[in-house]
Amino acid sequence: MPHPVRWTRVTAAIVLALSGAVAAFGTIAPSTDAELLVTKASIVEPLAIDFAPAPVAPTERYVREERLQRGDTLASLLSRIGVRASDVAALTQSGVLRRLKPQTTVTAELEGSGALLSMSFLIGTDLFRVEPGSNGYVVNPVPGVLETRTAFRANTVNSSLFAAADAADVPEAVAVQLADIFGGEIDFHRDLRKGDRFAVVYEIHSLNGQQVRTGRVIAAEFVNNGRAHRALWYPGADGKGAYYTPSGKNLRKAFLRSPLEFSRISSGFGSRMHPFLQTWRSHKGVDYAAPIGTRIRAVADGVVDFAGSKGGYGNVVVIRHNGQYATLYGHMSRFAPGLTRGTRVGQGSVIGFVGRSGWATGPHLHYEFHVGGEARNPLTIALPAAQPLSSRELAQFQGHAQPYVAQLDLLGNARLARAD
Ligand SMILES: [Zn+2]
Repeated sequence: MPHPVRWTRVTAAIVLALSGAVAAFGTIAPSTDAELLVTKASIVEPLAIDFAPAPVAPTERYVREERLQRGDTLASLLSRIGVRASDVAALTQSGVLRRLKPQTTVTAELEGSGALLSMSFLIGTDLFRVEPGSNGYVVNPVPGVLETRTAFRANTVNSSLFAAADAADVPEAVAVQLADIFGGEIDFHRDLRKGDRFAVVYEIHSLNGQQVRTGRVIAAEFVNNGRAHRALWYPGADGKGAYYTPSGKNLRKAFLRSPLEFSRISSGFGSRMHPFLQTWRSHKGVDYAAPIGTRIRAVADGVVDFAGSKGGYGNVVVIRHNGQYATLYGHMSRFAPGLTRGTRVGQGSVIGFVGRSGWATGPHLHYEFHVGGEARNPLTIALPAAQPLSSRELAQFQGHAQPYVAQLDLLGNARLARAD
């Protein structure tokens, strides 16, 4: 369908009210109707800005955890962690990371220069450690017994999810998991409100007394805009596992609420843009402001129908999904390697990266959701849900879930008591 042709200069006043760091950002957004876009900043209290982490001095050491995701290559994973190019080449050539599987989390210790000091990852219950040797990188199993304990944390979101997580000593990896788990229910780039709350029960793995990895979230509650969502991990009969509500509904939806990967940087960027981005009504799409290079995910399984450059959309991908559904992602800086018409994509797989190609003066993703060839508002549409638990499994699940539900209740009460 043709991209809207009319241009509207978006009110700049709100930009000034925000940080000087973003004052230079302006957006000219296409609009289909004559009316000027009226910003409605007063409806919600936008979350405060989460600035990108301060630069790290070249010799300073820091630790990062990242997950190997669908669509990742070893090189893209290592670059995301911040490993410098020469070490990326040495690591990929050495073969020390060939055991890594999708969804494996690696913990890397780096210097500010990007030099890799060490890296570790778990395969099953075995911990492996990668280190520079006398002749390139080597990988060795770390002897010891892996211990798993459970952590309980809760907090209220005042400025951003990551700030709230930091304040409660919740690892970044857990905050990202929360966004993943509730990603079919809540658009973490748009829906978060001051006063939202979370409570979370998660695993911490340690070896020889040293914490080696943040584990899985086992139970979580997220109260968004006054509405409580709960999720409980259940391994299931097939051992694959999934998150369910306490009543046994699968939280995995056929469509993700947000096409943008949720990260510390994209979350801050999106929320600061929230007040003045285009409404869906005025241009039949939803805009997500995000730094160039932020990863864009397929919101559902499907087949790429178009990947190329097209007028105002710039670099655009169209994906056809089951039934009558199609989604469109515009203004990309580049596509995921190998992505072309006919490529099969899975939900959550990376299809490209945020840019400002086409008619966009500021970096953002233009996202459209089509049902039967018509653009619909993805922010309000009811989306099909995944299979619930069978009645046979439900009883077993509820037995399994009961102690965690009790823990969530307890965390909720503790939080209320503190607030009083
Ligand atoms: Zn747009």
